[in-house]
Amino acid sequence: MAYFTDVEITDFQITNWGSQYIAIQWDLYIADGSLWNASDFRFNIYKSEGYGSPEFISLVSDLSTNYYNDSDVDRRHKSIIYYYKIGITNITAPGYEDITDPKPFETIIDPLAKEIRRQEELIFRQYIVNDVYILNKMKSGSLCPSCTRDGVIVKPNCKLCNGTGRVIGFWSKVSSYAHITPPQVTEGEAQFGYDGIRELMRINLIDAPIVQKGDIIYFINRDRAYEVVARQFTLFKGAILHQTADIVEIGEQHPVYEHLYQN
Ligand SMILES: [Zn+2]
Repeated sequence: MAYFTDVEITDFQITNWGSQYIAIQWDLYIADGSLWNASDFRFNIYKSEGYGSPEFISLVSDLSTNYYNDSDVDRRHKSIIYYYKIGITNITAPGYEDITDPKPFETIIDPLAKEIRRQEELIFRQYIVNDVYILNKMKSGSLCPSCTRDGVIVKPNCKLCNGTGRVIGFWSKVSSYAHITPPQVTEGEAQFGYDGIRELMRINLIDAPIVQKGDIIYFINRDRAYEVVARQFTLFKGAILHQTADIVEIGEQHPVYEHLYQN
């Protein structure tokens, strides 16, 4: 029976773009009106190698992030299925933990998909690297007491919620890579349903962490932050080869910059 009744793990995703790790990502749903505070939750990850060893071991505990790279993986054993579970705890309720159902991740990947990914990895890491930080936007959480009135944001530059209307509003930053693509024809932009008022930039990202509309991508060398307005996957035989995101620059007065520098 669940202890945290109006709280649950959502968007539990396992991806594996690089050859050195398995990327685990999730979000935390907190029902509106809940008294739980998003920043009080911590996450434990458990892992099992499936066949023959069904016991779960503790992989990592007390994370305050929504993302983890499991580098303890053996890619040579093609038939291994790893299983992961996420436990949630809260610093104000010691001793209680809710744990998700196990989620499998098969290391069996189509050889051609693997080769395409390997070549994309070379391109990303060696030729056109833009080091970025990714801030995933929290999808729920306590409404910001400083700037939200009846669910409407009345102070867009609020530092308590970084202009999101939810306390903190973003998960901890995660390092990644981005490739800025050449300017696109308008036909390509139309499918994202974007209004086109701000100038769009299109980028390709590796498959971890996964970004969504509203997330922030900070280009370290440019010292500029961008908001994701749309994202799509390029898939091959079930594997994500990369993500393509349309992004727009965020004005330099936006509180998210200070948040990035401090965290
Ligand atoms: Zn606020």
